[in-house]
Amino acid sequence: MFTAFLIKYAEIGVKGKNRYLFENALVQQIRYALKKCEGEFAVRKTDGRIYVDAVSEFDYEETVEHLQKVFGISGICPMIYVEDEGFEKLKETVVSYIDAVYPDKNRSFKVAARRARKNYPLNSMEINMELGGVILDAYPQMHVDVHKPDILLNVEIRDKVYLYSKVIPGPGGMPVGTGGKAMLLLSGGIDSPVAGWMIAKRGVKIDAVYFHAPPYTSERAKQKVVDLAARVAAYTGPVYLHVINFTEIQMYIYDKCPHDELTIIMRRYMMRIAERIARDTDCLGLITGESIGQVASQTMHSLMATDEVCELPVYRPLIGFDKMEIVDISEKIDTYETSIQPYEDCCTIFVARHPVTKPNLKIIRRHEQNLEEKIGELVQTALDTKELIIVR
Ligand code: ATP
Ligand code: MG
Repeated sequence: MFTAFLIKYAEIGVKGKNRYLFENALVQQIRYALKKCEGEFAVRKTDGRIYVDAVSEFDYEETVEHLQKVFGISGICPMIYVEDEGFEKLKETVVSYIDAVYPDKNRSFKVAARRARKNYPLNSMEINMELGGVILDAYPQMHVDVHKPDILLNVEIRDKVYLYSKVIPGPGGMPVGTGGKAMLLLSGGIDSPVAGWMIAKRGVKIDAVYFHAPPYTSERAKQKVVDLAARVAAYTGPVYLHVINFTEIQMYIYDKCPHDELTIIMRRYMMRIAERIARDTDCLGLITGESIGQVASQTMHSLMATDEVCELPVYRPLIGFDKMEIVDISEKIDTYETSIQPYEDCCTIFVARHPVTKPNLKIIRRHEQNLEEKIGELVQTALDTKELIIVR
């Protein structure tokens, strides 16, 4: 029965000059999300509000599901437009609206009228009283509660009359594109997609880099990362995924450096390469799924060692999260099932049985000198042969 949606967004922080940027980005992200839905929609910005109007048949559930993935939306109000054919007609429509939307009548309600058009024959108070009266007459099980009603029926007198009462929660956050762009180090695990999602929620556009090590990591493992990027893209819009062939670099480190330092040194090269791609693609920072103490390469000492090699800020939104908390989010955002598919990860193949947990920076730097002869060339080749996959 609904034919439109009123989109609510938190207005804190979007006052003044930034407001139109915020709204335009939101409109753009909404249009993008709706492209994937059945039906045609018009998204319009009027009177400091954003509306989505269905201009054809559409699938209500699917549309709501997609809107719930647009960062910046705090609430989605399904709405109907009623032609202004007099107040008597409006009374009938309101009664049938309540019947259709609330089959269970055992609820309290309140009518909240608002007139954008002051030439309407009744004022807001009168509209509230009259419509409240007809609802009570039609459904004696219902009662009025002006403080905490179960149903807040909004009646807005505009060019047409807008009726809405339900508020479906949105994801909150800021529209993607209002906060610059960052490069996500995306592995096939549980953590990194969640980390990317969290930063994107603050309005940041996400590009991603995946370090692939064929033949040690399979095409299936790479496909899993593409699938995860697609899950993230459902919230953020297209993700540019850079796939780096990391095999030669990994083998070279394996040959030249102590095996218990392999993970740390490998991670330092991942960061260096990610930073180079980030700079070439106008990214303002890197994002990883690291959390203190989760594994040997994520102790405070190890994080210090990986952090040292890049100048761009490294955002680690999961830094203080327990695994269970991360799993909860990954289930909510629908990446969990993909993340737990059992394909090998390039880090797990070469890991030492007892990796260092307190790497000494001086020693790490000294051992990296063993790589001097060929590493520059290998990094350059990896960058030159990288594959770009645009994930939608
Ligand atoms: P995840 O669940 O995200 O894989 P993890 O707990 O397995 O994380 P690590 O393997 O130590 O942790 O990796 C830490 C972070 O480094 C990851 O969250 C990710 O951001 C990045 N990373 C690790 N491996 C890769 C890879 N092959 N390609 C891109 N980024 C990677
Ligand atoms: Mg991993």
